[in-house]
Amino acid sequence: MKNPKILLLGAGGFIGANLTERLLQDGKYEVTAIDIESEKLEDRLDHAKLNFKQHDIRSRCDSLDNMVKDHDLVVDLVAMANPSLYVTNPIDVFDLNFTENLRIVDSCLKYNKRIIQFSTCEVYGKTVASVLGKDPAEMPFPFNEDTTPMIMGPIKNHRWIYACAKQLLERVLHAYGLEKGLNYTIIRPFNFIGPRIDFLPSEKAGNPRVFSHFMNGLLYGTPMQLVDGGINYRAYTYIDDAVDCMIRIIDNPGGVCDREIFNIGTPENEVTIKELAHMMKKVFDEDFRQPGDPDPEIVSVSSEEFYGKGYEDCDRRIPDVTKARTKLGWHSKHDIRSVIHHTMKYFVDQHRAKQKAA
Ligand code: UDP
Repeated sequence: MKNPKILLLGAGGFIGANLTERLLQDGKYEVTAIDIESEKLEDRLDHAKLNFKQHDIRSRCDSLDNMVKDHDLVVDLVAMANPSLYVTNPIDVFDLNFTENLRIVDSCLKYNKRIIQFSTCEVYGKTVASVLGKDPAEMPFPFNEDTTPMIMGPIKNHRWIYACAKQLLERVLHAYGLEKGLNYTIIRPFNFIGPRIDFLPSEKAGNPRVFSHFMNGLLYGTPMQLVDGGINYRAYTYIDDAVDCMIRIIDNPGGVCDREIFNIGTPENEVTIKELAHMMKKVFDEDFRQPGDPDPEIVSVSSEEFYGKGYEDCDRRIPDVTKARTKLGWHSKHDIRSVIHHTMKYFVDQHRAKQKAA
């Protein structure tokens, strides 16, 4: 298709802003970008092939339906995807991640448009090892899109409302595909990090994801807090690698992504959160440290203290990326040190610029 018109919902977030930038660089797409905020897109707003509209999909007006009608493809990134919000605002998390997203899916069905729906690796839940009371370290168990069962914690641990909302949306998409012929692709991101992720808690109120907390320690001297000892694992993917896979899914050569689910992740980049804290300290010391920079201590904190009641962690999540490799020829290029270095550089550059301006 020549110059496909893409409606990118949630374009102002971390993934959306990086994806928008790449789509504009490639030059062959026309992008309508929708978000409640445009800060992360600031230097792209005047691009000839970008039409940014500030819009809250919760406002329930006809314009969203009309926009879906006018585009070739809908990419839906609208989400509340920050674990602290699953604990503090579970109803908002359900409403946005399921109810409002379902309206977008319904519009796609009405106008027969393909949708790429961003989901989450949290839909897999916990590992079999954790349920059996075994050490997940001894049972590496990659999550496969089409065969792995999904194990959630109890209702009182309301953190799981996010995973359940996303899982239900995936199940509805599958049913729409089956019964009504909707053409969808689901993406399950595994811990993307890179420039424009989150914020530093010393500079803005809120509870961002772990990289920003640790970065805050390295730049402002606050302790690097390991929730419940930092024993759980995450596998990090650099945002540029993730975007590279997303572009392949958008292009959908030969329809290989039709009604398919794709993990996007880097199994080789798995670390415990404790290892992440120590690696971040080491990379900072080797690549960025300047005289006068703080040397934060690494401490342990309980999850209840850190998040409040209702939190439960995903112990280990290793992506099986065979499908992205075989169907799309995609491999991520950045190892864990390089992922940390590039993400860190973004925060350090901003911080040094602020220090200079002060
Ligand atoms: N975590 C931590 N210290 C922090 C923030 C988070 O130890 O300051 C832990 C959290 O409990 C989880 C992991 O780091 O085990 C990743 O959490 P994050 O908020 O980055 O998001 P998630 O990967 O769970 O979506």
